[in-house]
Amino acid sequence: MKNEKSGNTLHYPTVPTDWDNLAGFSTSCPCGRVHSIDTRQFSVRAGAIQDVHQCVAGRFRGKSVGMVADERTYSIAGKSVSELLLSVGYDVIRCIVPDGAGGRPHATFDAVLDVERRLHTAEFIVAVGSGTVNDLGKLASYRLGIPYAIVATAPSMNGYTSAVAAIMKDGLKKTIPCHQPAAVVADLDVLCKAPLPLIQAGLGDLESKPVSTADFMLSAMLRGTYFCPVPGQVVAEAEALAAACALELSEGKPEAVKVLTEALLLSGCSMKLAGSSSPASGGEHLISHYWDMTAAAENRIEGSHGAQVGVATIATASLYEFLRKLSPDALHVDNLVAARPSAANESAAVAARHGTFGDLAAAEMQKKRISDQAYRQELQYVISYWDVIWETLSTLKPAAAIRNVLQQAGCPVTVDALGLTDAHLRRGFLYAREIRGRFTVLDFAADLGVLETAASRVFAESGCLSGR
Ligand SMILES: [Zn+2]
Ligand SMILES: [Zn+2]
Repeated sequence: MKNEKSGNTLHYPTVPTDWDNLAGFSTSCPCGRVHSIDTRQFSVRAGAIQDVHQCVAGRFRGKSVGMVADERTYSIAGKSVSELLLSVGYDVIRCIVPDGAGGRPHATFDAVLDVERRLHTAEFIVAVGSGTVNDLGKLASYRLGIPYAIVATAPSMNGYTSAVAAIMKDGLKKTIPCHQPAAVVADLDVLCKAPLPLIQAGLGDLESKPVSTADFMLSAMLRGTYFCPVPGQVVAEAEALAAACALELSEGKPEAVKVLTEALLLSGCSMKLAGSSSPASGGEHLISHYWDMTAAAENRIEGSHGAQVGVATIATASLYEFLRKLSPDALHVDNLVAARPSAANESAAVAARHGTFGDLAAAEMQKKRISDQAYRQELQYVISYWDVIWETLSTLKPAAAIRNVLQQAGCPVTVDALGLTDAHLRRGFLYAREIRGRFTVLDFAADLGVLETAASRVFAESGCLSGR
């Protein structure tokens, strides 16, 4: 970022977006890192399940394959995968993940340990499913030290190709670093038959990218964290293509499902290229994770990740618009520094607010806590470089455009359509930033002293309220 501001021209590499060239791609970059894709085979086509034994054979020489699925994904694709593998001489150990609350499995750390126990003799894992099954198979295989392949059953989220797993552990939703799949099988015949709410969820997850990437940039500008434009570029065009297909997605049209699937797979790869989930997970993901983390205590069942992310994205995109309209001259640095709670008071308030995960949340907040002097410098920087900051946040997409795309596809755009209330939206907006040490637009608004005052305006303007 700093080099760009000083006018030096950096020549960033171009990452291929076709599957054959992306598989195993690696390049060094002026950002100082090597961007690489560890997945060696992408099979993205109608009938791709027929490729599964080649994917397995090309990636390991053993005989014992563990297959993770749930009851539904086993009947959708797992049975065929199992029969194919058996027919070419593999031993298949089936691990059907049991359903929990709401009649579906959950990605908890205990569930990961259960998969590990049941598949400890496997030499390779094939996960057949979507979000939860993918997370369980990915993290269990990583912890067992064996490769895995994913057979996707719904275009419902972007985690198939990422090198992280989203797991509930000790009451906190954690993004745990692990590995990319050795191979990805995305059979468009299977994906097109996915229930519409899962297809809509995929679009909801994807629509957060222009906003989460802005958070990734903002953190680099204000907190000096790592940023590189290359990961975001991989998915930008695909995201726009998928958004343009919103109406066709609502009708489950195969060509639109293909475009969405490809965009989601590229979005997962962008996280691997960045070395973290930052390009695809900003304040909107924290709000969704916060709703998940508070579900059990409220006797609620965790909602759809992508649906929640879509609504939260409308709110955070709208928050960016609220902030952009502020006048930097109206920011009073001395007053803001004086009004800032001490580290001890902040920790105590955060710990008290979050019940069973209060201490963990307080520890997360400490990770992004800066000294009063650094806070003062940050505010002065914001005032001096106000226009530069907004010019740099070039990936931002208007909240109204995001809402329009989601509406066209029939995705939820209000909290009540998620089974949540206006109070959930308010609490998520104000407190979700406390569950993770990542700096996002929610922290930016808090640092400018306007998060609370922004809430009502943002909710009214974004149209996320239930209307009741
Ligand atoms: Zn780079
Ligand atoms: Zn997501």
